[in-house]
Amino acid sequence: MKKTMLRDCKACGKEISRYSPFCRNCGHPQGSVLSICVLVLFLLLLIAYYIAFCIYGITLVT
Ligand SMILES: [Zn+2]
Repeated sequence: MKKTMLRDCKACGKEISRYSPFCRNCGHPQGSVLSICVLVLFLLLLIAYYIAFCIYGITLVT
């Protein structure tokens, strides 16, 4: 069960998360379509949050 969540790094061969866009060991990008989709979604969420922040002027502790 746990094995399916892992895969080998293309560069160093270490076991890394299937959803990780980069190897945690050597930092080599894995080029997974799924991880890129997750990354894009995360960026869109960040942009949406930034726009909401500008519009509503939410003040957060910096
Ligand atoms: Zn690696």
